[in-house]
Amino acid sequence: MAIAKVIVDLSLDRVFDYEIPAELTERLRPGLRVRVPFGKSTRDGYVLRIAETSDYAQGHLKSLLGICESRAGVPEHLIALGRWMAEYYCCTQEQAIRTLLPAAVRNGKVKRKTRKIYRIADVGAAQKFVSENSGKIRASARVAIVKRLLSSASAPQEELAREIPEFSPSGLKTLVKNGVLETVTEFVRRDVFGDSKVAPSVPLEPSPDQAAALATISKMLHGRSSSHVLLLHGVTNSGKTEVYLQAIGEALELGRSAIVLVPEISLTPQTVRRFRARFGDRLSVLHSRLTDGERFDEWTRIREGEVQIAVGARSALFAPFSNLGLIIVDEEHESSYKQSEAPRYSARDVAVMRGKLEDAVVILGSATPSAESAYNARTGKFLLARMASQVENKLAPHIRIVDQRLDGEMQPGKSSFFSSELVEAVFDRLRRGEQSILFLNRRGYARVMICEACGFEAHCPDCSVPYTYSRQRETLSCHLCGGVIPAYVECPQCRSPKIRYAGLGTEKIELVAQSVFRGARIARMDSDTMRGADDYESVLEQFRRGELDILIGTQMIAKGLHFPNVTLVGIINADLGLAMPDFRAPERTFQLITQVAGRAGRGDIRGEVYLQTRNPDNETIRYAAALDFDGFSAFDLEFREALAYPPFTHLIAVHFRGEDEAQVAEYAAQFTDELRKYAHPEVNFSGPLPSPIERIKGKFRYMLLIRGIKLKLIRQALRVLTLHRTPPRGVEVYADVDAQSLL
Ligand code: ADP
Ligand code: ZN
Ligand code: ZN
Repeated sequence: MAIAKVIVDLSLDRVFDYEIPAELTERLRPGLRVRVPFGKSTRDGYVLRIAETSDYAQGHLKSLLGICESRAGVPEHLIALGRWMAEYYCCTQEQAIRTLLPAAVRNGKVKRKTRKIYRIADVGAAQKFVSENSGKIRASARVAIVKRLLSSASAPQEELAREIPEFSPSGLKTLVKNGVLETVTEFVRRDVFGDSKVAPSVPLEPSPDQAAALATISKMLHGRSSSHVLLLHGVTNSGKTEVYLQAIGEALELGRSAIVLVPEISLTPQTVRRFRARFGDRLSVLHSRLTDGERFDEWTRIREGEVQIAVGARSALFAPFSNLGLIIVDEEHESSYKQSEAPRYSARDVAVMRGKLEDAVVILGSATPSAESAYNARTGKFLLARMASQVENKLAPHIRIVDQRLDGEMQPGKSSFFSSELVEAVFDRLRRGEQSILFLNRRGYARVMICEACGFEAHCPDCSVPYTYSRQRETLSCHLCGGVIPAYVECPQCRSPKIRYAGLGTEKIELVAQSVFRGARIARMDSDTMRGADDYESVLEQFRRGELDILIGTQMIAKGLHFPNVTLVGIINADLGLAMPDFRAPERTFQLITQVAGRAGRGDIRGEVYLQTRNPDNETIRYAAALDFDGFSAFDLEFREALAYPPFTHLIAVHFRGEDEAQVAEYAAQFTDELRKYAHPEVNFSGPLPSPIERIKGKFRYMLLIRGIKLKLIRQALRVLTLHRTPPRGVEVYADVDAQSLL
């Protein structure tokens, strides 16, 4: 008797056994969606495995009720990946399995769109009909329809009506009734690309660096290499994308398919165009703005082998190809590959695992690889290909460190945000008709409202962070919970009108820039001004057409934008990220500076970058200014090794939340004591302690950090403690494995 191991649509993290009725044994496969008796009712679920035996007493098992024929199942080959995710990321098996299917496919509400088309049923009969009825007035509509269908392709009714002047719907019906024509139902794709056409491109002659990388990839694709993962470390503009395109070309020639992951923010029309130009209709693009119907169609097309390439953000990793040959993760260092809700997986790391399970090659590309990947390349776990120079042998931008301790506020009459060097450099560009980018990684006008009389600082009452002031809207808003209140006109504590705003954001920079660079055409791009994708595209288009002189923005403008006329980038405050209480602060700062600097000098003129800082001797700032990745990487790895941080250990953050602080603290302590029992002696526990941001949306936050090399037992214990034990009422607990954010 065969047994089906089924998970039901609840978050129980439990597999239930059911007997498989004889009539279903032939058809039942892992991954299928099935209906099962559950308690006194019935539920739907997915078959995870089919086994010979059950741990429960046979004969007492209930029988599976049936297969949900109309609902897509989980592709069988992805089930092992889901299982690994559940175990590794300490989430429930149901959460992991759900991640494998887009909601639009899972919920069963969307169907393929179909249309009815008409075609000739019997050519002989059709010809006979035409010859017998030609010239008869009463048959003219029918004759015209048959002639049209005999001479060119079958068509839906609307098309026939459009093309044939004599068309009549009743004539069409009669023809079907008489067996001259027949109807067939055909799937219609909700076309994501619409009618937009892209001129095709052909592979470029590879540079020596590209050729070397491609040779390695080719070996990997033929299964002749020591690792299935390649770190492609190439500076911006070194031709990584061209390597991806040619690698995909080779995978397709071998009859295999490919997935390309890019950060959501880089999934721009320009990026998509490059892939479409090379691969046309063999490509499916999965971005967050697809409708449910479009997503469903693209998933189905991939599943049925109608396309061979999927390009998309994080979740495109689960594209249901059955003959996957290649997974590319572009900008592999991006923290957005880590999902912040359960399952808290890293798409980069899951890509490496999917590649291993399905025998596919994985390419991780970056100009500034993560410490984890750099380390894996150093130890030989990953292969490494480097591309050190830009394709056209352009010079990297020249970066100057501007020591702001010597400038600005100390000199009366000067703006404290723009050093005199930077101001001069911007004026230079204005005179020459070139463009500048001013970058600051913080939006809003000012960070804090302070009362000069009593020292009161306006904080969000629900989150332990200061409010951000917007002068444009005269509001105070909280970044964390989204709460907004009108700005105070007098101090709420002492009623003094002496209110001062300290710190700065992009809105303030814009205002100051407007007064310093009078007459310059300036726009700002951050999440305050950019409400939709259209705003984003339209500002970029204006900038591209040269209708703007200066673009001010947050990290929204740091990535991937290619504007040949930008010859200057000003980094207003390079120190902002360094102050974060996170061991990745130096890495993030280095990456951000490198990226922003890369926006300068994409054309023929060498770019210049002014990096304003109050820590000119800081190592990260110095390595970044020298564009010295190797120097920085060695420095950063040394620091991480000394403090036993990843990649030298694994790190798991356990978060505790609740409105009653004492209760949260107490449960966190109790939880930690219990967990310690499963710890290998080398495992390091820090905390539980209040998180750096102690309160969000009214909930107190505690965090326990676990670091160690051998975390297998801890992981198992964590699954039990977080998924199978109920914390006290009002307290939430979850584990974040390989946490990216420690705030
Ligand atoms: P990256 O992805 O590393 O930033 P790209 O692949 O976008 O680099 O290449 C940068 C520019 O150089 C693009 O305009 C691309 O078309 C061009 N390019 C890339 N490889 C070659 C090549 N082998 N020959 C000529 N031009 C190339
Ligand atoms: Zn006051
Ligand atoms: Zn808040």
